[in-house]
Amino acid sequence: MPLITLHNIEKIYKTDGAETKALAGVSFSIEKGEFTALMGQSGSGKSTLLHIIGFLDEQSSGTYSFESKISADYGAKEIARVRNERIGFVFQSFNLLAQTSVLENVKLPLLYSKVKKAEWNERACAAIHAVGLSHRVSHESSKLSGGEKQRTAIARVLVMSPALILADEPTGNLDSASGKAVMDILITLNKEEGHTIIVITHDPNIARYANRVLTISDGLIVADTQQ
Ligand code: ADP
Ligand code: MG
Repeated sequence: MPLITLHNIEKIYKTDGAETKALAGVSFSIEKGEFTALMGQSGSGKSTLLHIIGFLDEQSSGTYSFESKISADYGAKEIARVRNERIGFVFQSFNLLAQTSVLENVKLPLLYSKVKKAEWNERACAAIHAVGLSHRVSHESSKLSGGEKQRTAIARVLVMSPALILADEPTGNLDSASGKAVMDILITLNKEEGHTIIVITHDPNIARYANRVLTISDGLIVADTQQ
């Protein structure tokens, strides 16, 4: 069974009487273990699509299934659990708590989880180790470099060991060396830990790391290539 399936997904935004069709009928499936790059011009619908996949927003029509269950059948509590445990989001802007240490940032999802408090430190430290930031564990996040901030954000995702990692232009605010370090971590997570990953990127150099490239234009998938 695929991890996710989208069938004829449409998204229409209504603002001040105007309608924008951000997604115009998107259908595809992603299997467990795939590493997919989602490419397309600015405004083509990439973030909208990722938000629907991550239960951050709802489609206007069409069906979306995650782990063999359609989104309409998920109740509010279950959606909260999926967002906490099953899906991890990495944003271009990191979204860390500024005056807070790397360790506390990474522990954050655990506070809302069923994981026993006795395990929090060990799990957080393992995630921080996995992104190569053990030497920064007590650092205030605002004092980190951009690349270190993004690696902290990835550790915060990893601490819950999600089935699916969604990253919206994760290297968009980074220099090319830090961006490569972030991509290398994502590749390792995919290859060695089997995490399913979808990365939005403008950058063909980043997309080269993926084993599948979905191209979106004006809210439609116009190419789907394995590489
Ligand atoms: P991308 O991530 O590819 O740049 P988006 O998914 O953010 O594209 O946006 C797709 C289209 O939907 C754009 O025309 C954008 O202006 C519009 N859009 C995105 N979010 C909203 C929103 N919250 N309200 C109204 N229009 C939106
Ligand atoms: Mg976007």
